[in-house]
Amino acid sequence: MDICLYNGREICTYDLKDEAGIYYQDIVLEWKRNAAKKKLICVDCGSPVYLAAGLKKEPYFAHYDIVSCAYGKRMESQELIRGKRLLYHMLKRSFPSKEIQIRHRLSNGLYTTCYVKNEEGYDLAIDYRLQMLPIKELDLRVQYFDEQEIIPVFLLGVRQDKKKGQLSWYQTYIQNLSGSCVFLDAKEEILHMKHHITYVENRKRKSKVYQKTYSIHDITLSKDGTFDCDFYEECERRKIELEQKEEREQNRLREIRDRERRYHEEQIEKDRILATIQERKKLQNEQKLLEYQEWCKQNSLLKIDFHTIALPEGIRRDVLLNCVEMMKNGQEEMISKRYLNYINMLMEGN
Ligand SMILES: [Zn+2]
Repeated sequence: MDICLYNGREICTYDLKDEAGIYYQDIVLEWKRNAAKKKLICVDCGSPVYLAAGLKKEPYFAHYDIVSCAYGKRMESQELIRGKRLLYHMLKRSFPSKEIQIRHRLSNGLYTTCYVKNEEGYDLAIDYRLQMLPIKELDLRVQYFDEQEIIPVFLLGVRQDKKKGQLSWYQTYIQNLSGSCVFLDAKEEILHMKHHITYVENRKRKSKVYQKTYSIHDITLSKDGTFDCDFYEECERRKIELEQKEEREQNRLREIRDRERRYHEEQIEKDRILATIQERKKLQNEQKLLEYQEWCKQNSLLKIDFHTIALPEGIRRDVLLNCVEMMKNGQEEMISKRYLNYINMLMEGN
């Protein structure tokens, strides 16, 4: 047991040592003398208790007789007691003018490890455990704190820290509640703060745990239930950095895709223009060829003297001259086949 009553006032074994764990032996002697006078009383059953304050174990109060007292029967590990002592001193340092209670009984019958009464704001309930609570009780506690406007501060034992790339459901629950999951290493006297994030990298979901370690002697708790340190901000900053990195990467990929698409479209357009130019050139060449052929024909016609040329049978000179005129005028289709063949024959012979 870490508390008992003395002259109607609650006293606590954590006040027997300083922050470094060194005994105030004068207080130990005073309390031992009072215990011998049966002045130290169990808070639960009212039986007298004695004080054990050796060098090996953490100090504790115990009943003289084996009694049916629930508080007296409770066995706590040295790790838990040591951790509670460290937390108690950290809270005293954080809130020097406030009342710090050990084993505070809530109005719903549940207990919290420590309790900070804050008349000017919200009370703080500190919950330090080495084993996790069943979800039902955890929900019950959180709901109660919410209703009563009490800020809960959950701390876990260092052995619950599995040092994996993500946190358990329990630890995530606590992180969602308090901004981070805090493990107390009672032996090393340090706090491990952890913060798990999931983020997207190259469109894949990834997981990362940020962590930072503080000596419990260097850290204080603030009125809003967070620890006075840069950890929360740092996590937030890194989270934003990761988001921005992914955004930049997606933008870069989008730009590459756009560039490729534009290039492709430009190529198609270039090919189209080239084909048009070629088509036009082809038509121009054909036209030139036709013009040339026509020029050759006209030229040939001019070279032949149709007035004096000897005519074969069946070809009349007046008809022939008419036909030649029509040919010069580009009216070939009006000339009869016989005359046309004859004229062509003359031109080929030229
Ligand atoms: Zn008792």
